Amino acid sequence: MQAYPILSEYLIKTFNKKIVKLPIDGGFTCPNRINNKKGCLFCSDTGSGEFTYKGYSISDQIELQKKRLENKKIYNRDISYIAYFQNFTNTYDSVENLRYKYTQALSCKDIVGLAIATRPDCINNEILELLKEINNLTHLWIELGLQSSNENTAELIERGYNNQVFELCVNNLHLNSIKTVAHIIFGLPNETDEDYYKTVYYVKSLGMWGIKIHSLYIQKNTRLYAYYISNPFHILSRNEYTEAVSESIKILDNQLIIHRLTGDCEKSLLFEPKWSLDKLKVISEINRKLSV
Ligand code: SF4
Repeated sequence: MQAYPILSEYLIKTFNKKIVKLPIDGGFTCPNRINNKKGCLFCSDTGSGEFTYKGYSISDQIELQKKRLENKKIYNRDISYIAYFQNFTNTYDSVENLRYKYTQALSCKDIVGLAIATRPDCINNEILELLKEINNLTHLWIELGLQSSNENTAELIERGYNNQVFELCVNNLHLNSIKTVAHIIFGLPNETDEDYYKTVYYVKSLGMWGIKIHSLYIQKNTRLYAYYISNPFHILSRNEYTEAVSESIKILDNQLIIHRLTGDCEKSLLFEPKWSLDKLKVISEINRKLSV
């Protein structure tokens, strides 16, 4: 039994039909991965987006993603889409290029909104103006990587900005009525339940619109893998993760839309935890814990 607000239901209520997010690689990079910066510890060389069609135009990527759904037989004629700019930092470019890319996505058939994943230190005033403009045209939300509100963890994973920067960005977006989503991770090195719940309370206190919770997964093509080999740390069991998530859902108290409760790792790249591949089992365990 699921008794908390989830994105798919929110979208059905808003658009009166099924809406699916299509991940896109907008061809951006990330300021945390250039000029000798190595990126967040867990970031892969695809910029945390393993399921996009890199190198194709935005409209071709959208068509290829639609085809992929068709092949998976979850496509039907009464479906529309949110274009999801996923890989790397999707506001890290000139305003002209950003406008061009967002507009390209919005002009594709059956696209009814945009989701843009970015860093809070990559939305300057000019870009904020552009986002305001886009927000007036379509259904928009901005996904911001927080991972943890523990500043020591932020340093360890080399996130590259402090919580004050995150808060400022969230406030600026909210002042312009732009929806915000926090991306957080449970299971980061040295963290415990206490850290997870503090992070959830922090996101809630900022009045954000949505939240994505992932279990930390170690991909073989990341620095996190090398870190783990030389500094092994506790990897959450499925039981520990689902316990922490169900408690977090109680903390959220239906005030945020839940966009995700599991991670999404490419099977061949996954080192640990293997249980994270069975997403349905993770969700059903969370729901079972919430129902007792
Ligand atoms: S901000 Fe995103 S793209 Fe940049 S290094 Fe961190 S996870 Fe990777």
